[in-house]
Amino acid sequence: MRVVVVGSGIVGAAAGYELVRAGVDVVVVDSAVAGRATSAGAGIVCPWSSGVEDPDWYRIAVAGAEHYRELLSALASDGETELGHRRVGALRLVTEAESEEVLRRVTERAEASPMAGEVELIGARRARELFPPLGHDGAAVHIPGAARLDGRLVRDAMLRASVRRGARVVEGTASIVADGGVRGVRVGDELVGADAVVAAAGAWSSELLEPLGVRVRVVPQRGQIVHLRLPGVDTASWPVVLPGSSRHYLLAFDDSRVVAGATREDGVGFDHRVTAAGMAEVLGEALSVAPGLAGATYVETRVGFRPMGPDGRPLLGAVPGVDGLVVVNGLGPSGLMIGPYAGAVAARLARGADPGIDLAPYDPLR
Ligand SMILES: Cc1cc2nc3c(=O)[nH]c(=O)nc-3n(C[C@H](O)[C@H](O)[C@H](O)COP(=O)(O)OP(=O)(O)OC[C@H]3O[C@@H](n4cnc5c(N)ncnc54)[C@H](O)[C@@H]3O)c2cc1C
Repeated sequence: MRVVVVGSGIVGAAAGYELVRAGVDVVVVDSAVAGRATSAGAGIVCPWSSGVEDPDWYRIAVAGAEHYRELLSALASDGETELGHRRVGALRLVTEAESEEVLRRVTERAEASPMAGEVELIGARRARELFPPLGHDGAAVHIPGAARLDGRLVRDAMLRASVRRGARVVEGTASIVADGGVRGVRVGDELVGADAVVAAAGAWSSELLEPLGVRVRVVPQRGQIVHLRLPGVDTASWPVVLPGSSRHYLLAFDDSRVVAGATREDGVGFDHRVTAAGMAEVLGEALSVAPGLAGATYVETRVGFRPMGPDGRPLLGAVPGVDGLVVVNGLGPSGLMIGPYAGAVAARLARGADPGIDLAPYDPLR
């Protein structure tokens, strides 16, 4: 059996990796466009503190976080360990008025998902010991099981491991060839035949699927995210900071790097620019939460397009009427967390295996 995966963001790379490990002949096609979400994503894995109330979103978000255990171990056995992944924990900053309610909700969720660790309320001084630039003088809910990762490294590791196991990676823009069922994809002059196609084209999925008469409701949301450096400072184990007062956040990586995210800009299409307002918003929010970052070196701003579905839940499933076509998309602001799991589910569908999850809430054509 051969499966073509269109798109090698974290979702497509995960689908390809799952398929090749199941012994399937895999071809991954990617157009390497500017603004790929996986190349810009922050890399926070912490479903337990999310304000999203939808239980169908939460269920797949936790499955995504928990799937990392299996993925990290599979990648390690393929010799891939440079992923920027670390369980650094998260601090959800709280005001006095909300602290009890936030602690109760996160603790309840953590009890059902032991990976979250022992959640506790910590004071301002302890929070600053963990993340020294913080200015917050209130308490924080500490979630020790939260992790961060580098989406580029995880994606590239899955692709490299797939290639070593026999997958082929093709650079170019794919169009799907179908007649009743999928026949394969066309990339430039080449027709790559396939028994199934996994469409993991992120924010670009309309261009890919509309020629088949398949309409998925995914639009791009621009995110601008700023990378800073604190020369000589060991930031490797600093936790993720979730201010709560806004949807902005801070996280840190091993190389003295602190990342301040991010704008959420709807209605700007695929305009891949760093804007004055975007920079002002991200830096303003970051410095108001962590004034100790004022002297940090500016490194770069990354821009990516989050694939946003109609209601926050992923779009995941086979497409009725087009045999062999599987859509996995719409992971929005949570695709680095959910993407490897969703990609693996799509892979199972594409090869006719049990997806292992009730897919009714994630109907890709809703
Ligand atoms: C600023 C920012 C911060 C984020 N922070 C987080 C975070 O902390 N935690 C989290 O979980 N998520 C985060 N996300 C969200 C996450 O990055 C995305 O949800 C996820 O990367 C989406 O992955 P994807 O594979 O669906 O899309 P993408 O990574 O965009 O990949 C789609 C791929 O499809 C390819 N493609 C498109 N059309 C075609 C075609 N016709 N032929 C061939 N190839 C094609 C593109 O080149 C691209 O490589 C963030 C996103 C942004 C922008």
